[in-house]
Amino acid sequence: MAKGIVYLVGAGPGDPGLVTARGLEVLRSAEVVVYDALANPRLLREARADAELVCVGKRGGCHTMRQEEINALLVAKGKEGKRVCRLKGGDPFVFGRGGEEALALAEAGVDFEVVPGVTAGVAAPAYAGIPVTHRGYSSSVAFVTGHEDPTKEASALDWARLATGVGTLVFYMGVKNLSQIVERLVSNGRPAATPAAVVQWGTTPRQRTVTGRLGDIAERAAGIEPPAVLVVGGVVALREELAWFERRPLLGRRIVVTRARAQASDLCERLEALGADVVEMPTIRIEPPADFAPLDRAIERLPSYDWVVFTSANGVDAFFGRLALAGKDARALPRVAAIGPATSERLRAHGIRADCQPARFTGAELVLALSAREALAGKRILLPRAANAPEPLRKGLEEAGAAVDEVDAYRTVIEARADAETLEQLVEGRVDFVTFTSSSTVRGFVEAVGRERLGALSTAVRFVSIGPVTSETARELGVPLAAEAEAHTIPGLVEALLRLV
Ligand code: SAH
Repeated sequence: MAKGIVYLVGAGPGDPGLVTARGLEVLRSAEVVVYDALANPRLLREARADAELVCVGKRGGCHTMRQEEINALLVAKGKEGKRVCRLKGGDPFVFGRGGEEALALAEAGVDFEVVPGVTAGVAAPAYAGIPVTHRGYSSSVAFVTGHEDPTKEASALDWARLATGVGTLVFYMGVKNLSQIVERLVSNGRPAATPAAVVQWGTTPRQRTVTGRLGDIAERAAGIEPPAVLVVGGVVALREELAWFERRPLLGRRIVVTRARAQASDLCERLEALGADVVEMPTIRIEPPADFAPLDRAIERLPSYDWVVFTSANGVDAFFGRLALAGKDARALPRVAAIGPATSERLRAHGIRADCQPARFTGAELVLALSAREALAGKRILLPRAANAPEPLRKGLEEAGAAVDEVDAYRTVIEARADAETLEQLVEGRVDFVTFTSSSTVRGFVEAVGRERLGALSTAVRFVSIGPVTSETARELGVPLAAEAEAHTIPGLVEALLRLV
């Protein structure tokens, strides 16, 4: 049996980009992932498909394990010979009880390694624009637990020294004890005028920062729930100039992305980079068509066509998949047209530069662009598309005199189930925007929500469409649009959304 090993890995403070390269490598190769509430669930997608995922944290509806049970679980999995990733919020050894887990492993003779992480006490202030040390303001920093009851007689903390002997103080787990912490610091000699800040959900789209002075921070931050850190010290004042993260235009906006999960990443990443809290609601799924025979026959006859016209990146991938199976490659293609930049981009990945791409990305524009290149009368055109794709493009090409073979390259399947939590957020108005990137995403959304329940969605939710064909479907199905993208591309959609905030 292989020898087991347990890695205690810091998941970082929330932003999934803040896990270390080593942490990600361990997570990707682990057979067992044991994670807790503060590790971003987004990271779990990096785990192997066959990995056993064990949630031991408080949130997310899973059963909370006692520390002894967690220790025992890690020891047991290690002894079974497993490669275990113990994913912990922030850094495993900073208030994470990682030390206890490591000791349990050491005592049981199970191999372990530690992968440090970015701790919340540094990262949350950094995203709030507060450097924990700064020349002239503070040359020392202390990470302090705010968990213990500060009124208890024999405190483990030396409050007198903490209050006066350290430049910057960062309290973890202290939200519930804010006023006692403040009181202790002030009564032990820290001036009530010292700048202070509470940073909640630091490094995530839900980040919220409240600033004040020691004298009033408890009152100002009264409504704040965990997780949050309290930062005390002159460095807090730097935030006025340095609060970079909270200037992101979509910070805290919740945006539902209805695209198929496999294709959503570009849109999601762009929105997240602008600060949005993205909720994926995959309303469609891409599958092979019922029958590949028509596409395969067309591929056999490729030399007889004048043009192959692609209308989506999915169509490109499906086509090249079958082309490879037929033992051919890009050299078998005649001239190639693409409806827009995403399709062209995918073609480039297969070694093809499109000969024609219209300036505006609709079927009608594509017919115009092709006709401008040469008379289409008598030309043979292959159109590999989604099964049930809208007809206007084929008709437009035929009206221009071309002979068109439209073949199914893939199928868009509606995912008619919606996540209950997302539905609730839509009804309660806790969603700011819903994006549609195709007619089928609109159809999928309406099915998932239920036609009869469309009217029950909050009027606070605004719907944004990528272009006229998608908008038309939305109108037909009774989905009120707040905006349509000017350029019918993902960046165009993001632009349209930005104009609404
Ligand atoms: N090991 C973790 C800390 C675990 S203790 C680390 O190194 O970050 C849990 C405490 O961490 C919370 O009560 C809160 O004070 C702090 N915390 C964790 N994530 C946070 C976040 N995103 N923003 C602000 N504080 C956070």
